[in-house]
Amino acid sequence: MKTLTVSVVTPDGPVLDGEYEMLSCKAENGELGILPGHIPLVAPLTINAVRLKHENTEDLVAVNGGFLEVRPDKVTILAQSAEKASDIDVERAERAKDRAAKLLESNNQDIDVMRAKLALNRAINRINVAKK
Ligand code: ATP
Repeated sequence: MKTLTVSVVTPDGPVLDGEYEMLSCKAENGELGILPGHIPLVAPLTINAVRLKHENTEDLVAVNGGFLEVRPDKVTILAQSAEKASDIDVERAERAKDRAAKLLESNNQDIDVMRAKLALNRAINRINVAKK
């Protein structure tokens, strides 16, 4: 079966490199399913799970925004941060979630609401990916 070479890269270094039959992700314009031979594409990603199918298994990566670049047999994801499900520290993500939620509930005029919402989304995404 044909495969795609998938690389997930962050400023801290490579997070994942592997061969997969299909990649599914959520771009800002909607869900994308990428198979080998897909037309070239660049798309901004949402804070979401990237699902990677290989035979009967599925690997999940929490990708925190960034960009997807598709070439016929190679997909590269560049993001500020990304973690494989097995590398996620759920307690840390729960703490980050509580911190962000408290800030958003505080009605404090000095908080950066967009920043707190993004931190909350990153934490929820990590928790969901780790628990699947
Ligand atoms: P925190 O407030 O817990 O630092 P954050 O969302 O602000 O969370 P990021 O700035 O997105 O964190 O990431 C900083 C670094 O920490 C990245 O290398 C990221 O992969 C890693 N990281 C963040 N949260 C977790 C987690 N829950 N488990 C494992 N690695 C994490």
